[in-house]
Amino acid sequence: MTILVTGGAGYIGSHTVHALLDRGDTVVVLDDLSTGVKAQVGAGAAFVQGDVADTALLRRVIAEHGVDSVIHFAGSIVVPESVADPLAYYDNNVVKSRALIAACVAANVPQMIFSSTATVYAEDAAQPLAEASPKAPISPYARSKLMTEWMLEDVSKATKLRHMVLRYFNVAGADPKGRTGQSTPKATHLIKRAAQVALGRVPHLDIFGTDYPTPDGTGVRDYIHVSDLAAAHLLALDALKKGATSTAYNVGYGKGASVREVITGVERVTGSKLPVKESPRRPGDPPTLISDPSRIKAQLGWKPAHEDLDGIIASAFAWEKRINT
Ligand code: UDP
Repeated sequence: MTILVTGGAGYIGSHTVHALLDRGDTVVVLDDLSTGVKAQVGAGAAFVQGDVADTALLRRVIAEHGVDSVIHFAGSIVVPESVADPLAYYDNNVVKSRALIAACVAANVPQMIFSSTATVYAEDAAQPLAEASPKAPISPYARSKLMTEWMLEDVSKATKLRHMVLRYFNVAGADPKGRTGQSTPKATHLIKRAAQVALGRVPHLDIFGTDYPTPDGTGVRDYIHVSDLAAAHLLALDALKKGATSTAYNVGYGKGASVREVITGVERVTGSKLPVKESPRRPGDPPTLISDPSRIKAQLGWKPAHEDLDGIIASAFAWEKRINT
C-alpha cells in the first residue's frame, strides 16, 4: 500500500518522505511546487505535480497508487502573509483541505495525518502546553489550522476515516545526510536567519524584543530537529495502521531556548560573531512556547534523537552553506 504525501517537496514533507523511503515504504508525493523543491523529494518516491483540491486528480492518484494513508503537509505557513491576505489562507489551508478530506472519504482511504501548529493554543495558557491546553489562535494561519483540525474531528466521528493531528513547535535543522533542508529563500525563522547572517548573506540579525518576561528578556521557543519531527509522523502512521483512534499530539522537546541562547549557539557552532540589532517585538510573537511532549512519548513511543541545540544549528548551517542562495 502507498502513502500519499501532500506537500512532500516542502521542508518538513521532504524530510518525512526520506524517512518513509529509508524504511522501505512506498510513497507518492503530490505537490504544486509553489514553494517546494522537486529535487529535495527522494528519488524513490513517485511524484505528481498538482493541487490537493483537484478532486479528479486525487481520485486517479489514490486509485492508481493504491493509497491507503495520507500525510497532509501542503499549505501556506507565513503568519504575517495570513494577516494581510486571510482569504488566501482560508482557501489554501481550509477549503483545499476540505476537498482532500472529501476525496479520502469518497475513496475509503482510512487514515490521515495532518500538520498543525503550537500557535493554536491560547497565548496566556500555562507553559508547557499540553494537548488539552486552551485553544485561542490569533492569526488567520493558526485559525485555518484549527479549523481543519475541527473538520477532521467531525469527519472522523461521522465516517471511517481516522486521523492524527501533530502540532509542531519550532522546527529547525536539516537532514543529517544532507539530502534536504529549509530552502525557502525568504524564510524568517530564527535559526535559518542566523545561519544566513553567519554566512554573510544577510547583514545582521534582528532580536525581536528584549523586554519579554523571560530570563534574558528575549523570546523562548522549543526548537525541534526536523528529523525528530519526521519520525513522529512515521510513528503516528504506524499507530493509525494498528487501529489507533483519532487524536492530536504536541511535537516538541519540552525545553526552551531564548533568542540570545540560540545566537550564542550559532556563534559557537559557526565560529563567527553575529552582528545583531535589538529591535522591537514582532507583532503577535508570544514570550514563550514550550511543549509538554509526555503524551506522544507515552502513547507513540516517540524518542527524540537530535535534541542537542548545537546539533540542530550545525545541520541547519551545513544545509545553508550547501544551497548557496
Ligand atoms: N526571532 C528573532 N529574530 C529573527 C527571527 C526570529 O529575534 O530574525 C525571534 C522571534 O521573535 C521568536 C523566536 O525568534 O521569539 C522564534 O521565531 P521564529 O520566526 O523562528 O518562529 P515562530 O516562533 O515565530 O514561529
